[in-house]
Amino acid sequence: MNCVNINDLPKMMRPNEQGFYGVYGGSVDHPVLAAEMEKIKAAFYSIIGDIDFINEMQRLQETYVGRPSPIYHAKNLSNLTPNGAQIYLKREDLNHTGAHKINHCIGEVLLAKKMGKKKVIAETGAGQHGVALATAAALVGLECEIHMGVVDIAKEHPNVSRMKILGCNLVPVSEGAGTLKEAVDSAFGAYLQDPENTMFAIGSVVGPSPFPEMVAYFQSIVGCEARAQFKTLTGGLPNEVVACVGGGSNAIGLFSGFLDEASVRIVGVEPAGEGLDTGHHAATLTLGKPGHLQGFYCYFLQNEDGSPAAVHSIASGLDYPGVGPVHCHLKDLGRVHYETATDEETLDAFMTLSREEGIIPALESSHAVAYAIRRARELGTSGQGQSILVNLSGRGDKDIDFVIEKLGL
Ligand SMILES: *Cc1c(COP(=O)(O)O)cnc(C)c1O
Repeated sequence: MNCVNINDLPKMMRPNEQGFYGVYGGSVDHPVLAAEMEKIKAAFYSIIGDIDFINEMQRLQETYVGRPSPIYHAKNLSNLTPNGAQIYLKREDLNHTGAHKINHCIGEVLLAKKMGKKKVIAETGAGQHGVALATAAALVGLECEIHMGVVDIAKEHPNVSRMKILGCNLVPVSEGAGTLKEAVDSAFGAYLQDPENTMFAIGSVVGPSPFPEMVAYFQSIVGCEARAQFKTLTGGLPNEVVACVGGGSNAIGLFSGFLDEASVRIVGVEPAGEGLDTGHHAATLTLGKPGHLQGFYCYFLQNEDGSPAAVHSIASGLDYPGVGPVHCHLKDLGRVHYETATDEETLDAFMTLSREEGIIPALESSHAVAYAIRRARELGTSGQGQSILVNLSGRGDKDIDFVIEKLGL
């Protein structure tokens, strides 16, 4: 499978030279940061044309991450709607470290290494990106520094322990709400202290150019594999593809294989939290407004004064007030539909997939599963012969204690 040529990606997910997707995206205006970003961008374009780099990345994807991840036909889940649409899962939960984030972390550390950097630095919310980056950094022998809000540190114990064991330097951030947004600011601040020896390694398709493009490229392997696998499995394309959207990296990864296929309906699922009318959600594309957030232009959830609003989701990995510029563009183009799932539907889907198929999904991924179940029900028997492919972005081990407590099991 050749999934490496960036020019094979659909045009509508490629930014222009200034890093804009339509009006969204762009670069930082901080002079030092802007210069560093230009260096990273040049190095990125150079390595993805370098056969040694590509071979090394492919070798690690196969023998370390365990790619390709399979597509699984979830028959029991599909049978909940008799004679209805068939649901398939792209099993990113089976990757080493249990989620899709390792795909771009491998790319980012290889790039940092190639640039002669000594250290990678990043933010993390639930700790998923921190663990994936600490893993990849250990693999290639780079130092790793992760900034994490004190509230998240208290909440996400297993991931904090993993990062420590993997040898990463964890920096607690107590400013503001002590969560992801503050961790991003803190990590950028630390990066500015020594850009010479460090590389910032963002955890999704967000932030200033070139990160949205770079992370999307590293994740596009998911859609490239999925398209070929689905053809082999069924002889055709899925009718619908579905993924949850936090920053949007697992979603654009899967979508990249299908954006140019007009027959495929594409759906991104955002967290409706406690309900869209409660103010406790993270439905950025559904209810946000365009504005500047942390070095790029995107839809984000804002207070009256234009500052980023407090957000909520049962899945900490989706708990971010902004979203990747590529999704903002795809929303405006009308190519991708952005829907939502509430905390309650998500918990239901988490339990349903666990009990029907023996697969415990991440709460993030459960948003996409919830939508697929709802969609199959909606279609009813008119869905017969149709297929829905869901990106199962991660496994739910990290969420089991929370769910047990929440449901009183
Ligand atoms: C981090 C995470 C997400 C959300 O990030 P995206 O960039 O939107 O993909 C989704 N699922 C899992 C399992 C995650 O760890």
